[in-house]
Order: sequence, then C-alpha cells, then structure tokens
Amino acid sequence: MSFTDLPASLASALAERGYETPTPVQQAVLEPEAHGRDLIVSAQTGSGKTIAFGLAFAAQVLDDEGRIRSTEAPLALVIAPTRELALQVSRELDWLYRPAGARIASCVGGMNAQQERRALRGGANIVVGTPGRLRDHLERGALDLSGLGAVVLDEADEMLDMGFREELEHILDATPDGRRVLMFSATMPRPIEAMARRYQHEALRIAT
Ligand code: AMP
Repeated sequence: MSFTDLPASLASALAERGYETPTPVQQAVLEPEAHGRDLIVSAQTGSGKTIAFGLAFAAQVLDDEGRIRSTEAPLALVIAPTRELALQVSRELDWLYRPAGARIASCVGGMNAQQERRALRGGANIVVGTPGRLRDHLERGALDLSGLGAVVLDEADEMLDMGFREELEHILDATPDGRRVLMFSATMPRPIEAMARRYQHEALRIAT
C-alpha cells in the first residue's frame, strides 16, 4: 500500500506536505486485514501515529469520491491526554483532511468553551479533544456522538495514568454500536487490556 492508492484528497494532502512513504505503523493500519476493524496499536511518539489513525478512519469519514461525508454529527472523535497533544493532532488532521473539505473542531481544557460549542454546532466532522472537556460538552448536549464511525484513543496509557478512566468510559459508553475503536498506546499495561476487552471487538493487534 502506498499513499498514491489512497483517496485522491488524502493523497494530494500528503504529496503537498512532501510525505511519500508510509511509516511502518501507517503501512500496518493500511493493510487490508486492518480495514474496518478495531485496532490496538503499540506506537511511540514520532512513529507517525497521528497520520496513521487519520488514515485508518478514512473509510468512516469519506465518501466514494474522497470528500468528507455530509452529516450533521461528527464522524470521528480523537481523545488525547493533554491540550498540547490534542491541538497538535488537530493541526495535523486539519491539513490531512483539508482537501476533503473536512471541518475539525478541538475541545480542550483551558480554551473558550463557548467558541468550542459554536464549532460543534457549526457542523464539525472530526472532533479532537481532552477527556474532561469532551465529557463536559457531552453532558451539556453540545457534543453529538450518535453519528460516530470511529473513536481514537491516542496515548491511551497516558490518559489512564493521568486518571481519566472514568471520563473515557463515560465518553465511550455514549458512542454508538458498530463504531470502530482505535487504541494507540506506547505501553500496554493491564488497565489498557481491560479497556480493550470492554470496548473493542476482535481487535487487530499491531506492534511495529
Ligand atoms: P507523530 O508520531 O504522529 O507525532 O509524527 C511525528 C512526525 O512525523 C510528525 O511531524 C509527522 O507530520 C511526521 N510524519 C508522519 N508521517 C510521515 C511520513 N509518512 N513521512 C514523513 N513524515 C511523517
């Protein structure tokens, strides 16, 4: 699988950025056996994991022409442990999905919650945020998870170490049946395995 086999909008974003070759983790999530499946991926920072999950959920967010699907509710949700990481992920997905016409909203602690609610109401297709803030939006009815095709837990081990288990469970419990759960983690301690058992179905393990 090479980047040129991807939907045209993604291929052109990557080409414009000068990225020509998938990293090992990107290669792995693009293999046919990974398509449509829940994934549990051991990936370190710097491995290209952000683009990896961005590409992994392409089929859940794009139509046959490679354009973002037009739906009212968000199609993909990425949960990350810190504001810095969430904003970095949001920037990365923004350039990757810009040619597809996607709107990305970030929801992170310490930022203006009202502005975030406006972005969510304004038809965000992909939402990236930290656990506490996402939960707040969910409880206030500002975040509609009913249309989600994929949820990504980025740095899942960090999120559990930081004490976000309850928030994560609260959010995951509000996602629809049939959505994919893509777990990315540098380490796989027991609480991660427990979470995988509870929220994933026959997940494919990827270690690169
Ligand atoms: P990450 O592991 O997601 O933090 O990515 C580390 C850095 O590698 C980021 O700056 C990415 O934009 C960059 N990157 C990701 N995929 C590729 C690729 N296929 N070729 C070159 N650089 C990449």
